[in-house]
Amino acid sequence: MRIGAIEAGGTKIVCGIGNEHGIIEDRISFPTEEPGHVMEQVIAYFRDKSVEAIGIGTFGPIDLDPGSGTYGSITTTPKPGWSGFPFLDTLKKEFNVPFGWDTDVNAAAFGEAKWGAARGLDSCVYFTVGTGIGVGVYAEGRLVHGMTHPEGGHLLPRRHPDDHFDGNCPYHGDCLEGLAAGPAIERRWGKKGVELGNDHPAWAIEAYYLGQAVMSTILMLSPKRIIMGGGVMHQEQLLPLIRSEVGRMLNGYVDSAVLRNGMDDYIIAPGLGDNAGICGALALGLVALKRSTS
Ligand code: ADP
Ligand code: ZN
Repeated sequence: MRIGAIEAGGTKIVCGIGNEHGIIEDRISFPTEEPGHVMEQVIAYFRDKSVEAIGIGTFGPIDLDPGSGTYGSITTTPKPGWSGFPFLDTLKKEFNVPFGWDTDVNAAAFGEAKWGAARGLDSCVYFTVGTGIGVGVYAEGRLVHGMTHPEGGHLLPRRHPDDHFDGNCPYHGDCLEGLAAGPAIERRWGKKGVELGNDHPAWAIEAYYLGQAVMSTILMLSPKRIIMGGGVMHQEQLLPLIRSEVGRMLNGYVDSAVLRNGMDDYIIAPGLGDNAGICGALALGLVALKRSTS
């Protein structure tokens, strides 16, 4: 099987070809510049690849309502040229194959559920902590959509008493993304996260905010696993700090065998590593193909 996969992120777009086992056999990536130029490259890549379907997991917000006139578009992003861009239609005009379409984080949650750290489970939540913060939700065996799609990166955390940074979300100031995404860390400390030592006070503050988001997720959705990826999570000291914040805040309230022995198997890194998004897009393509033939 040859399935196309597109992971469109804030920094780069990855295109790949994969099979039904979740193996990506070929890939290419290029920077997320204005959409005209990006689409030329995407189309050129898939032009002679004879794929049977294409799955797309993209940064958002996006229109996921098949009944909407703007289904398949990016909606309100501040990224130059992308607001209102008809991502899906642009590709449908070029390739007569079934398409899967979802957010990058829903795709990553799906990929992890199919082939990664949540394999065999019927629910998981995937966080990415990078240029922005995104949250993908897989529940009762399907990706969660609603009025639009989950936007857990913009939850409002309680402020850390030692943190006087205003927050840099253009919509909400001190929401989770405005306080804890990579650019917020850089603005707060005047250095990129990767340049801060792993015992820097930045990480306790980071864990305080991410821990609250994880706690809210447990309380709202009760997922069977929580997976935390993205560039900032490459800081290996963060996961243990987040687990201990979550334990401290839950304070024994949620009683589950899963949590009783600590959270080392509950709040975890992606099993697919940095491939979660592209494998998830592949999984979306497979579902689209299956649907078209059933
Ligand atoms: P994107 O979110 O754009 O798809 P990433 O997930 O790589 O890409 O996130 C990029 C952000 O993560 C940047 O703000 C960068 O400073 C931060 N980042 C990347 N690697 C690290 C690291 N090892 N430690 C801390 N922060 C990192
Ligand atoms: Zn926000």
